Amino acid sequence: MAESGNSPDGLELSKKWLEAADSRAEMLRYLKEQVPQIFCLKKELSPQEEEELMQSRLLYPLECFIFGEHPQEGLEKLKQDSTSSQLCGRVFKEGETVYSCRDCAIDPTCVLCMDCFQDSVHKSHRYKMHASSGGGFCDCGDLEAWKIGPCCSKHDPGGATAMVTDECVLHPELYERAERLFRVLLSYITEFLVWEEHFELSAELQPQTKENAYYCVLYNDEHHSYDHVIYTLQRSVNCDQTEAQTHTTLIDKEGRRAVKRGTFRSCQQAKDLIRSNSEHISLQPLRVEILQAAIMAHQTFVIRLGSWFQKIIGYSAGFRQVFCQVALEPSADGDQPCLISRLMLHDAKMYKGARKVVHELIFCSMLMDAEFKRLFAIEFTKYYKQLQKDFINDDHERSISITALSVQIFTVPTLARHLIEEGNVIKVIVGTISEMLREHLDINNRFFFLGYNSDKLLRIQVIFHDLRYILISKPSIWTEELRVEFLEGFKVFLGLLTCMQGMEEVMRQLGQHIAVEPEWEAGFSLQIQLRHILAMFQDWCSSDENILLLAYKECHTVLMQCNNQPFYKEPKDYYMCKHILNVRPYKVSQAPVSIHLPISRLLAGLYVLLCGTGAIERLNNAEMYDFTQLVDHPLRCVVLAAQVSAEMWRRNGLSLVSQVYYYQDVKCRDEMYDKDVVMLQIAASKMDPNHFLMLILLRFELFEYFNGSFSSNDQDELMHLNRLTEEMLYLIIVVFGERYVPGISQVTKDDVTMREVIHLLCTEPMAHSSLVKNLPENESHETGLEAVIAKVATFKKPGVSGHGLYEVKKEQLQEFNPFFYHYSRSQHSKADESQKKRRAQEGNDKALRPPVPPPFCPAFSSVVHLLCCDIFVHILRQILLRSVEDQPTHWTEAMIQRALHLIGQALLEEKTQLEDSTVEEVAFDFSLKAHRVGSEHGKSVFLLLSKTKALPSLEAQKDTIKWLLQMFEVIKCLREKSSPTASVTMDTSKPEESVHDKEKAERKRKAEAAKLHRQKIMAQMSAMQKNFIESNKMLYDNMPESGTQGEPVTANESGAMKQRELCIAIGPNRGSTPPEREVLTCILCQEEQEVLAQAPAMVLTACVQRSTVLTQCRGKIPTNRADGPGTYPLFMPPELAVGTHTGSCGHVMHATCWQKYFEAVQNTTRNRLHAELIVDLENGEYLCPLCKSLCNTVVPLIPLEPLTFNHENSEMIRQHLTLPRWIQILSARIKGLKSVTQDNDVNADCDGGNGSSSLCGEGPSDFRSILSYGVQEPRKLSDSITDMLVVCATTVHRVGLKTAPNELCPRVPLMVWNTCAFTIQAIENILQEDNKPLFGSLQNRQLAGLKAIVQFSASQRLKSSQADIQRHFTDMMGVLLPVMCRKNTPSIVEVDFFHLLVGLVLSIPSLYQEEAVDLQPSAVSSTYNHLYILHLITMAHMVQVLLISTDFPVVGDGEETEEASAAAEFFTTVYAAGRPLPDLSGSSVAQRVKMGMEPFLRCAALFFNCLTGVHPPEELLCTPVASQGLVETLCSYLALPTNLFQLFQDYRDTVSPLLQRWCGSPAIPKAMKGKSQIVRYPRRRNRLIDLPEDYSVLLNQASHFQCPKSTDDERKHPTLCLFCGAMLCSQSSCCVSKLDGENVGACTAHAATCGAGVGMFLRIRECEIVLMASKTRGSTYPAPYLDDYGETDHLLRRGNPLHLCPERYRKLNQLWQQHCILEEIARSLEVVNVMFALEWQML
Ligand SMILES: [Zn+2]
Ligand SMILES: [Zn+2]
Ligand SMILES: [Zn+2]
Ligand SMILES: [Zn+2]
Ligand SMILES: [Zn+2]
Ligand SMILES: [Zn+2]
Ligand SMILES: [Zn+2]
Repeated sequence: MAESGNSPDGLELSKKWLEAADSRAEMLRYLKEQVPQIFCLKKELSPQEEEELMQSRLLYPLECFIFGEHPQEGLEKLKQDSTSSQLCGRVFKEGETVYSCRDCAIDPTCVLCMDCFQDSVHKSHRYKMHASSGGGFCDCGDLEAWKIGPCCSKHDPGGATAMVTDECVLHPELYERAERLFRVLLSYITEFLVWEEHFELSAELQPQTKENAYYCVLYNDEHHSYDHVIYTLQRSVNCDQTEAQTHTTLIDKEGRRAVKRGTFRSCQQAKDLIRSNSEHISLQPLRVEILQAAIMAHQTFVIRLGSWFQKIIGYSAGFRQVFCQVALEPSADGDQPCLISRLMLHDAKMYKGARKVVHELIFCSMLMDAEFKRLFAIEFTKYYKQLQKDFINDDHERSISITALSVQIFTVPTLARHLIEEGNVIKVIVGTISEMLREHLDINNRFFFLGYNSDKLLRIQVIFHDLRYILISKPSIWTEELRVEFLEGFKVFLGLLTCMQGMEEVMRQLGQHIAVEPEWEAGFSLQIQLRHILAMFQDWCSSDENILLLAYKECHTVLMQCNNQPFYKEPKDYYMCKHILNVRPYKVSQAPVSIHLPISRLLAGLYVLLCGTGAIERLNNAEMYDFTQLVDHPLRCVVLAAQVSAEMWRRNGLSLVSQVYYYQDVKCRDEMYDKDVVMLQIAASKMDPNHFLMLILLRFELFEYFNGSFSSNDQDELMHLNRLTEEMLYLIIVVFGERYVPGISQVTKDDVTMREVIHLLCTEPMAHSSLVKNLPENESHETGLEAVIAKVATFKKPGVSGHGLYEVKKEQLQEFNPFFYHYSRSQHSKADESQKKRRAQEGNDKALRPPVPPPFCPAFSSVVHLLCCDIFVHILRQILLRSVEDQPTHWTEAMIQRALHLIGQALLEEKTQLEDSTVEEVAFDFSLKAHRVGSEHGKSVFLLLSKTKALPSLEAQKDTIKWLLQMFEVIKCLREKSSPTASVTMDTSKPEESVHDKEKAERKRKAEAAKLHRQKIMAQMSAMQKNFIESNKMLYDNMPESGTQGEPVTANESGAMKQRELCIAIGPNRGSTPPEREVLTCILCQEEQEVLAQAPAMVLTACVQRSTVLTQCRGKIPTNRADGPGTYPLFMPPELAVGTHTGSCGHVMHATCWQKYFEAVQNTTRNRLHAELIVDLENGEYLCPLCKSLCNTVVPLIPLEPLTFNHENSEMIRQHLTLPRWIQILSARIKGLKSVTQDNDVNADCDGGNGSSSLCGEGPSDFRSILSYGVQEPRKLSDSITDMLVVCATTVHRVGLKTAPNELCPRVPLMVWNTCAFTIQAIENILQEDNKPLFGSLQNRQLAGLKAIVQFSASQRLKSSQADIQRHFTDMMGVLLPVMCRKNTPSIVEVDFFHLLVGLVLSIPSLYQEEAVDLQPSAVSSTYNHLYILHLITMAHMVQVLLISTDFPVVGDGEETEEASAAAEFFTTVYAAGRPLPDLSGSSVAQRVKMGMEPFLRCAALFFNCLTGVHPPEELLCTPVASQGLVETLCSYLALPTNLFQLFQDYRDTVSPLLQRWCGSPAIPKAMKGKSQIVRYPRRRNRLIDLPEDYSVLLNQASHFQCPKSTDDERKHPTLCLFCGAMLCSQSSCCVSKLDGENVGACTAHAATCGAGVGMFLRIRECEIVLMASKTRGSTYPAPYLDDYGETDHLLRRGNPLHLCPERYRKLNQLWQQHCILEEIARSLEVVNVMFALEWQML
């Protein structure tokens, strides 16, 4: 509400208007004067200024006028006595998720918005969700839309209040003022919105002074692309790229935009330029108009007034009614439509922004009120045709057309009926369609779509939806008016169908193939649109007997008028088996035929309904109908399909094949093929059966063939005849057996669906969605599947991948019909095969018997006589005779199969009849005729059948024939009234024997098949090998004989056995390294080779990647550019922000084989389309040749040296080499090293010599004393291994630091140690996550990779500068020993100690390097080095853990253990350095520290195990890592005291000064105060974020998502980062940012920091996971949400409720934690083999 401020006094002004004689003129005068002063000024106002001025000068006075007082006060009063609407009416934006209830919605167009749905009862029903296409609104509160629960809890009026109150709730004065104002304003709005260039404004609104200020306005259209418009603008109105872009975006959004202001001339110039420039690009020019500035100003204000109206209407239902009243009242002079109609009629001419305002006004006013909705609907119907015409000629989308409102009106059942009665809306709609399609009529008044405009036709088809809406709920009560109007509409509808009946006839092409494929899609798309409408018309008719009868008669009359297309010949007599048929000749293969027969089919449908209700009795002179004539066209159509399938129409091209396909496809069949079958059944029930079959033979063009008057040896023709015979027999099977149509037999709709489902499942187990896809849907998109599925099938749950499947229940199998009429050819053979297989498995014979069909309704009962008439027996005899006489070109097995099925059907029918009544009553005498006819020559059906049994070529049918012969026996007995004893014994005895035989045969067959299979594989293998050998000949020649290099290793075995018990990895008591001979097979050449240090290298595939899996500070990746001693990569900070992971798929190759393969891959991949998306050649990527994992390097395999540890030596040394002594000699050594002393700042700020001498009490040591504890020569590695060391190390360095490859960089060894440490930590993390034992539970690939990495890291030193390594060692040691401390050395809270441990252990051998000789410590020296390094680090880490911990567990301080007291002492010492001493018990401290140490100890154990090969204790092999008490075992393996605090007591003298230094470092309080967040131990384990169980919760979140960077209401793609839970705005230009100088989308930018380039996102609206790695690569992955049928739902296409599947989410988590995302992407890309490049980086 506006403040009056310094603008005119609103109250004053409004009073003046009120009192004026002509207040309308007064108000308009005011607007005319004010509006141009606010909008569209030469110097534009800022949006706020403009808004404020509009409020105070324009809107405020208007509001004063309404209320007659200060608006705020008036509103308060109003609110007290008015109720707000119970309708929600929220208008949907495009893409917004909406919900419908399958249980309660009247029709699928009834939807709820997210908020209402969450508060409604339907949340627990079978709901559906889908994305709105925009424009609709929420139906919450609409009583007619829902069977139950029409209101959510928010919109529930509380029961007592009535629906919408009709009376006006406003005070009469208020009402009167509002009415006056609304009338003025709405007509003002209308005038300006419908204003056109050439119209004069009415005098009241003519601007006073004609200022020469104009705008050049550009309008939106669908012909020109964004780029076209930008190009045109830049060229025409002299603006830069960004300006042009802004203009274009706004034009697209709003529909128009002023691109220039100036004089009329300059605007005219700009207009001409734009038009000519745009014409160059696409043939049509852009729409440009020149508007006077004043008019532009008024139009701008009018749009604002629209929103203002919405606000005012929202205040009170009274205002809403006033508005509706004004909008709908006829114009004063009466010759104009009402205001709202004028706006509607102008809709297609308005620009987008204006349309939106009008539509929204209609939504919030007339559609919210029952009575006004009715009045509006009448207006809408009145102008319906015009509106549709405008829409069709318009090029805007339907969602922004006024016609889209139809769904809001026509779907309301009461309104629909009212509109039929009042305006005959059916006639209006059908009339509109007919008129729109008129241009497609040919001279015969039939449609003909050659050269049609598909876009226009699509627009016309939309009108069919309206017809569907009208018919969606059939009336429960018929008024006389409704009957009349409905029938009237039905007639018009028949008129439309007349134009389709017989359209697009085809003629069989002979000789040449057709030159042009005829058009067919248009006709079928009409048919598809009509499908539900036809069904609904029939449904309406069936609800009233009179209507039904009248409709049937009308339909018949119309059909007769259509059918008078001349037959070309006079009727003729045809003779067969003493029967005569008099019919006109016609041949499908020679005359035109059409597949479109909607009227015939409608008639068939109505006829069945008549039979169903019994009204057929009331049909006068029903016998007058000539069924031979009625059935002729449908029969031709069936024959056409048969001939096409017999390949007789090959020259007619694909278009005909497609038509026949759709004719029988689930999308069309119920109103096409199925109805033709019904028509055939009707005819069969009414005609003499012999005549009926003769007609069929005639139309199938088989009459002569079966009459014996045909002979030909043309193979092609015989093939056609055989195929046609098969099809004809199939048709008889169908006509006789397919009775699952309500009205034809006593079945319900559920029975029908059940039968469909059974038959689908008989082909194979199916997922719910595939079942749905294969079942016909009704107009509400329901298949009825849910109601029956549980009765016929059992559900099998899905695993971690794949989907849930339904399997048919065994007891339902008796329904199975191998010749089910909805089977396609492939389904038929699939079902046949799987059912035979099943019967064989169950030990049954292979005869697939026909099922017993339900009995026909009385009206159809005579159809059964088909199978006992003379012609039928004649046909069977002919066919069987051909097979018995074995004329191979005259019969096929398929033909026999069908004939046998027919015999079976006939026998079953006879049996049923005989069982139901007495022999005398049964007229069905098939068995008698089968025995009798032709028996004199030994050629009766029965005898022929017996003969076929012996035919070897019919081996597969033997079981069926056997069963048929038994059936004959059974019937014979029934007829003779004796029990069929003979046959019964045969029945039981035979199978057993045959089962036995069969088993034997089966076994033999299987064995043979297996043998064949083996042979085939062997042949393939040897061919492959040959190829490989040839292409790698050189390689083979150069290779040493395998095996000769191996050293005998068995010698030490017994010794090794003895040492086994010593499970200690380091220190004087370490166990031995057992000898392990590893012989591996190269996956490329398949040669075996032993892994030896001196042999050619074997390598392991590996992938190095940066990883944030363990990070404690997600989203922060430190830059590692700084190169100083205190930073990464020398020291890994404790947050593990980003590590370098090296993983492997565990596949081994020769280094040489790999190099060859790699080169070959590089060459071939370069030439492959988009291969760069999969592998990054520049960066050495390749796919593992075996498993297609993505790799970027190889790790050389280096065997462990077997070692029997010399314990005597070790004991000796122990006396001398104490910790202080060790430190002393180490310091001395370092001091003497040139490499280190060259650096000047060592010890600069530490206390130099004094400190060290005080630490090392035993006097100065000599530079070389370190060597005296044992040295040895370094191990010799073969050249190829050392080469591979370099390859691998370089990759690790390059990837880990994201830097250029440089094998000489001093940081190479650092990165090698880092990746070793990080990979171990990652593995420890996985083991803990899965709670598996530390050793023995790793997958082979992980274990092989781990071992190889550790050995590689240990050996890499040999290829680096020893001086570099010595310097690194010294720097790292500085953290522990003050002697070596330097300026930037981090404090103990700033490093990850496991990384430090690995670095120190792997670098210390370099200290033994002498100038002239390569030396390394002996085994004994090494083990002491390991021991002391580990002990020092363990102590430092314990201090670290303690310093940082705050959450000490509460432990009841009962007994004082040794550990607890040691811990207490430790605690006091640490806190002695002047820090406040928390009051804690020793055991609490002990527990806390031990807990924090565990991961470190586990990592250390893994590390030393891989390094030394010493067996771990049994306990670590089988106990899950999280179990209690494992710390002790770990400690013993690592030569640590069980009570870790003991260390501090053992080394008290040495450690006390260190401790002081550690804790006293000034860096500690600083570090803890928080420049980086504090990492507590054990570290937090990362997991994918928690997802809600119900997917709609996520959708809800997404709908409230606000892009952080833009404020427009465009549709966004909210995307969830599963690592950190951030919601991103993906795929949107607003959130593009720069990464390394490239434009990338929000996800890519986020992944760079969140996952070091790797990302896992959930795209919420699409319901799919996106995996991302690096900027260019990504792939999609199914979301871990499943519906109740165990299926995922990409894009929410099916829209079933979705629930989180924890197993699948766990799998995704594993994918991440095991660093397999990259691998998964590469693999999926390799499979998909992308045809177009997806721009992943823009996500
Ligand atoms: Zn709602
Ligand atoms: Zn609601
Ligand atoms: Zn419901
Ligand atoms: Zn090889
Ligand atoms: Zn592999
Ligand atoms: Zn994230
Ligand atoms: Zn955004």
